[in-house]
Amino acid sequence: MIANTKILATLGPASSASHRIEAMIRAGASAFRFNFSHGSHEDHAERFRIVREAAEKTGRQIAIVSDLQGPKLRVGKLAGGELALSYGESYEAVLGESAPEGAIPIPHRELFDALQKGDVVMMNDGAFRFTVEEPGAERMVFRCEVPGKLTNNKGINIPGRKLPLAALTEKDAADLAFAVEQGTDYVALSFVQTADDLRLARSKMGESRAKLIAKIEKPGAMTELAEIVAEADALMVARGDLGVELPLEAVPRAQRQIIRMAREAGKPVIVATQMLESMIESPTPTRAEASDTASAAYLGADCVMLSAETAVGRHPESAIAIMGRILRAVDEDEGAGREIGFAAQTTDPKSGAEIIAAAAAWSAEKAGVSAILAATLSGGTAYAVARRRPAVPVLAITPNALSARQLALAWGIKPVLVQKDETFEELSKQAADVARTECELTEGGCVLLIAGIPSGVKGGTNTMRLIEVDPK
Ligand code: PGA
Ligand code: MN
Repeated sequence: MIANTKILATLGPASSASHRIEAMIRAGASAFRFNFSHGSHEDHAERFRIVREAAEKTGRQIAIVSDLQGPKLRVGKLAGGELALSYGESYEAVLGESAPEGAIPIPHRELFDALQKGDVVMMNDGAFRFTVEEPGAERMVFRCEVPGKLTNNKGINIPGRKLPLAALTEKDAADLAFAVEQGTDYVALSFVQTADDLRLARSKMGESRAKLIAKIEKPGAMTELAEIVAEADALMVARGDLGVELPLEAVPRAQRQIIRMAREAGKPVIVATQMLESMIESPTPTRAEASDTASAAYLGADCVMLSAETAVGRHPESAIAIMGRILRAVDEDEGAGREIGFAAQTTDPKSGAEIIAAAAAWSAEKAGVSAILAATLSGGTAYAVARRRPAVPVLAITPNALSARQLALAWGIKPVLVQKDETFEELSKQAADVARTECELTEGGCVLLIAGIPSGVKGGTNTMRLIEVDPK
């Protein structure tokens, strides 16, 4: 039922009731994103509780991604809540949370310090565009070039300038502490510019083993991509801001480059934003959106994300269900395997554990097994198999609940939580039991088990066994 490429759905006002979240899991969501740009800690705490409960009820491993707002510049509160912008008109921008009628409040001193005459300023994900006519320390004049109706708190992008903004704002630090305390599985960092931004966040996470997702949405991140990929646990192609900060035509190439580099490094990669955008209103997506979603799967992305479609849209469950259909159609395309596997096949294994994992991915198809079972504590062994994009399902058998949830958003993996076993014989027996309940077995059919013996040694995967499983 669940496609190899997983679905990460953003929760919001349209999707926070417990029956809704349960329905979204049943429709095929494997992970939920909590967007810390919106909502109070109270709202998010309630969502943590509901998601964990719904996962329990549906018997599924579900990952929670806490997405920090990051140093995003925003418009303050407009007098009257909105301002109709006209083409060619000049508007006053004033430093502060509020401004007199007709002016635009901007509560970021850094912006006033950095902007110069002729700079481009965009608002609301690039929908409105201005040039700076008069710079100033507390008051500027912008000339509007692409107008529209501006409302409160809309994002501001300055594509041409790198502002000296802290990677982790005060709000981010508070949200991070809260998310860690709630037991989040992943933390997504917005507007990452350097590998140091990731190190800084990790230094504030204490004992937490939550994984860090670097959201790539700044031109600066593209120039330091190799270092960022090396430091991050997972990557996100955050096309919304990326397509404003970079010229639109640079996004497809950036998407491919990020996916390629993440896959070469063996790290999960998520493609995000506007995937089924028209479904915010419409009950079906456009053909172009269906094709875009499928393309991410054909490129071998681990996961695709829904944003406003599920957070504020009219059809949260059907957006997930339709996305699932599109992704399963890619899985059923027999010609796709070679395409999807390519990046992994060209990456040589770099350790003993990687060699066993690569051998399992290769052998599974040759031996015609029903599944690969990877015994894993940290999740690393299971992902080492999945990154090779094998032709059979990967069952991650783990006694570690956090690892099980984290693997929910990785390509092709079904995480199964089990008791900890000591010996290889016990483990083999357990693997056969899991295979009987989770796999479609044939008479005399086999599964492939890989594990580290003795267990509990990080990177200690050293054993592969073909196990014949009696379907009864
Ligand atoms: P956001 O990130 O929705 O938090 O802005 C995703 C993106 O920019 O694409
Ligand atoms: Mn963004």
